[in-house]
Amino acid sequence: MPRKGKAMKITRISVYQQDLPLEHPYWLSGGRLKFECLDASFVKIETDAGFVGWGEGTPWGHTYVPAHGPGIRAGIETMAPFILGLDPRLVLEVERAMDLALPGHLYAKSPIDMACWDIAGQAAGLPIADLMGGGSRTPRPIASSVGAKTIEDTRAVMDRYRQRGYIAHSVKIGGDVARDIARIRDVEDQRRVGEIILYDVNRGWTRQQALRVLSATEDLNIMVEQPCESLKDIAAISGKHATPVSVDECLVTLQDAVAVAENGWAEIFGIKLNRVGGLTKAARMRDVALAHGIDMFVMATGGSVLADAEALHLAATIPDDHCHAVWACQDMLTVDIADGRGPRNKDGHLHLPEAPGLGVHPDEEALGDPLAVYS
Ligand code: MG
Repeated sequence: MPRKGKAMKITRISVYQQDLPLEHPYWLSGGRLKFECLDASFVKIETDAGFVGWGEGTPWGHTYVPAHGPGIRAGIETMAPFILGLDPRLVLEVERAMDLALPGHLYAKSPIDMACWDIAGQAAGLPIADLMGGGSRTPRPIASSVGAKTIEDTRAVMDRYRQRGYIAHSVKIGGDVARDIARIRDVEDQRRVGEIILYDVNRGWTRQQALRVLSATEDLNIMVEQPCESLKDIAAISGKHATPVSVDECLVTLQDAVAVAENGWAEIFGIKLNRVGGLTKAARMRDVALAHGIDMFVMATGGSVLADAEALHLAATIPDDHCHAVWACQDMLTVDIADGRGPRNKDGHLHLPEAPGLGVHPDEEALGDPLAVYS
């Protein structure tokens, strides 16, 4: 029996690699970036108290943001000696040890942070969201990911998701002013009552392209995400259009969050757990957002039901009115490493797991042998 209330030490860290093929090829930025398979790293942390925690780090390929699967595994190799022996429930101590061992490389830290929160939740007998201070049980809408290029494809993909119950959609645009305006207008024509639609540019506009599309669609009252490459670009256009903007790829550090909030460069945060370094760091961004009237989408950067569950726990700690949607990347994959367990799509929503910790673990047999074990 795992013991409670006493010191606990991390005794072993095992790292697994798993390819997660996408069911359909997927394009971002108007076809500039194509994705077909994700490189996932799963991390098992064992303790001398018998608790076992799991984490996942699945970047969205290696062309989307500065993160890649082999980098996660190399980062864990570097950090492991600094983490072994620590109490995983003391997530701030683990965070500081990782930051000392390896400055930056937040995406490599998030699976460790996730596994530590999993253990902390199990040891406390609470779902992670409750351990973080209290999780809403209001089911979170799942945002689809519509990585299409033409009007016809966009309609087909959105209908596919609507048939699965989805009411939130992230429609990928960018790269061509006329095509983007036409696609936005068509999606708005087809929009159903109650749907949440975010137009995600994934950095695909220059400043002039952004201003032309946003001025041409101003009557439609839309939201866009990451219209331009950098925070400087987003800042430069922020006073020149009336459309609410979400920052996603450019929201990496707490300093980014503070700068966006202080200067009013965006009205929404798109928090991706793997990119920002895990729950511990993301929770601070949440608080910066709430203190500045900024709403949130919370998502895994990619990955299996484990990554989706982590995002759902953070989303549950955001007041209902300020959390627009989560994402279920699992619905885009052809493999399931947890055989239907954990939070799954129910009428287009994810429901917070009530089990202590993360609420879902992978099938170890499905993962094969670990690539590395540190002890
Ligand atoms: Mg995005």
